[in-house]
Amino acid sequence: MNSTNGTGKNESGKIHMIISDGETRTYYCRSELYNKGFRFIRKDEKWHRDTTDPLFVEKYRDYAKRNGLAFVAYDSTRTRGNSYRDTFFEANEPMIGKYYVCAYCFKLLKKNDVTVDHIISVNKSQKNRMANWLMDRMEISNVNDERNLCCACRECNSRKGSKAGLWLLRGFLGKKKQVIWGVYIGTIAMLIVLVGTVIQILSKGGRVKSL
Ligand SMILES: [Zn+2]
Repeated sequence: MNSTNGTGKNESGKIHMIISDGETRTYYCRSELYNKGFRFIRKDEKWHRDTTDPLFVEKYRDYAKRNGLAFVAYDSTRTRGNSYRDTFFEANEPMIGKYYVCAYCFKLLKKNDVTVDHIISVNKSQKNRMANWLMDRMEISNVNDERNLCCACRECNSRKGSKAGLWLLRGFLGKKKQVIWGVYIGTIAMLIVLVGTVIQILSKGGRVKSL
């Protein structure tokens, strides 16, 4: 049940290529790109294609260069998987009763309201040396690894975006059951102390008045 280690294993060896506007716009090469198996993704307005052949990568890198287009290639360990949401739910039971808990603000969430967040974002894993250093240290080879996924509410997920820094600490700590329980028990203990103090002050006030 808890043995899943992300989607990296079955996707290993896959390389994701992206061609975008450079000195020349991809628009002028659109039919050629299409014939070469690239597909235009409207969301980022770039041309995408997967391959397992490193020679292909060099061929298209060369093609892009000759045509004045921008080219990047990532192996699949640094691209957003298709099944990371399933990976997360396979490895994580609800934390309190039937509720999941946002790792960032500790809000209780029903499964349908959970957004699964890449703690080290896909974007950072592609471009940021610190992020890659951290992944090495934590022995997380794939950005879609369960250990890099946490539960987040929509608000926290959109506020975080691909930010790093303290968000990473909050994500990695906030996915731990002990931390969540610690926060809840700590909050309840503080409330009890607070209510006790208020009662004490009020009863003292009452005594002062009655003198
Ligand atoms: Zn939240």
